[in-house]
Amino acid sequence: MKVQIISIGNELLIGDTVNTNAAWMGNFLTGLGFTVSRVHTISDDLSLIKDTISQGMSEADFVVTTGGLGPTHDDMTKKAVAELFSSDYKLDKRTLDYIKALFEKRNIPFSKSNHAQAEVPESADVLFNKMGTAPGMWFHEKGAYLAVLPGVPNEMKYLMQERVAPRLRKVFGELEYLYSHYIKTAGIGESTLSDEILGDLSDHYKSGISMAYLPAPGGVTLRLNSSGANKQEAQKQLEMLRDEIYRKAGKYIYGEGKDYSISESVGDLLKEKGLRIAVAESCTGGAIANAFTDISGSSDYFDGGVISYANHVKVKQLGVSQEDLDTVGAVSKEVALQMAKGVAEQLDTEIGISTTGIAGPGGGSKEKPVGTVWMGFYQKEGSHFAIKAMFTKDRLINKERTKMTLLEITRRELKGIAEMPYDLKKQLP
Ligand code: ATP
Repeated sequence: MKVQIISIGNELLIGDTVNTNAAWMGNFLTGLGFTVSRVHTISDDLSLIKDTISQGMSEADFVVTTGGLGPTHDDMTKKAVAELFSSDYKLDKRTLDYIKALFEKRNIPFSKSNHAQAEVPESADVLFNKMGTAPGMWFHEKGAYLAVLPGVPNEMKYLMQERVAPRLRKVFGELEYLYSHYIKTAGIGESTLSDEILGDLSDHYKSGISMAYLPAPGGVTLRLNSSGANKQEAQKQLEMLRDEIYRKAGKYIYGEGKDYSISESVGDLLKEKGLRIAVAESCTGGAIANAFTDISGSSDYFDGGVISYANHVKVKQLGVSQEDLDTVGAVSKEVALQMAKGVAEQLDTEIGISTTGIAGPGGGSKEKPVGTVWMGFYQKEGSHFAIKAMFTKDRLINKERTKMTLLEITRRELKGIAEMPYDLKKQLP
């Protein structure tokens, strides 16, 4: 079953408003088992709205629009559908009573344009909107279905979930269940992962199964899709592909699930081993501490940290040698090693990790260009090393990549995986 999504509004075209509705609806409708074949973003232009809806309904089984239902003169969507379906208007009493009561409660005068919001084309089935003043509308014309929804995101979502989805199920029956499963990897680039590690997986792409690589600064997520009559069946379809991915790329995988993060994965390992960690952060400015504290229950393994941005903090709080700062500088193997050990000793944890680098855009030199980062790892009665990486010229990307790389270094160390992320080399004291 094919769907087209039409987002209406000049603010979307000039970039004042990000079209989050289309993304949300695409996800929601795919989950219901539809194939979203086209997404249009168009201006508040009467004839363009009419043409796009008309074309959409001739190509798809279901079309949904958002936006342009407000009371102002630039809101054209209702007029467009009334003209398209040669329909007069009818008054929806329930909506009128609801808007009047709402205005009375808020002590706002009721105007002619507010009254007009309760009028809908005669052929519309009203989708009552208790989240706002513009009702949604449902049409069945020329063999296709059309839902016309307001642009305000929470009103659109409410109507999709409560009014549109039940109608779609009634009209189209239970569609195939679409299942998405996410496998998260870190410390390996997208092309190496796909070309050298996973290679050709087409034997496992039975019909209805697909896989996508979703790269981000912190790592590559693999999204596996399958379909079936129900969730269990759809999940089962993926078992072989999932097993093959683990067989080939197991050491790069830190977990599964769309929202599972690398800090959570490190936290789970620390908990399992009964270890505690502290962080000494310079160029990441607390980002790693923040990533740990995003996880509920992280006090089980995360003690705290020192944001040692200035050199005197590195010296006074972490015991970094002033002489090393003067000779080899703050962005160095020596300082990264001392920071990691220093924070573990000061906070009395088994593990300490550290970051010190030149995030940019200024501050680089020939020997230490922008993007040079040192990361330190220290484990009491265990390993003690530092790793140098060269990231980008962009400050925020450098902070993000340093955070993710050091978390992945920590995960691999806790798992006993010898190979470091992106083939970086450990340097011992
Ligand atoms: P209402 O009459 O309830 O205000 P409406 O249909 O008139 O709804 P619009 O006036 O088009 O909606 O937009 C209302 C608000 O929703 C605006 O703040 C707009 O920026 C936002 N909005 C509209 N379309 C989208 C979209 N596709 N994604 C995200 N926000 C949107």
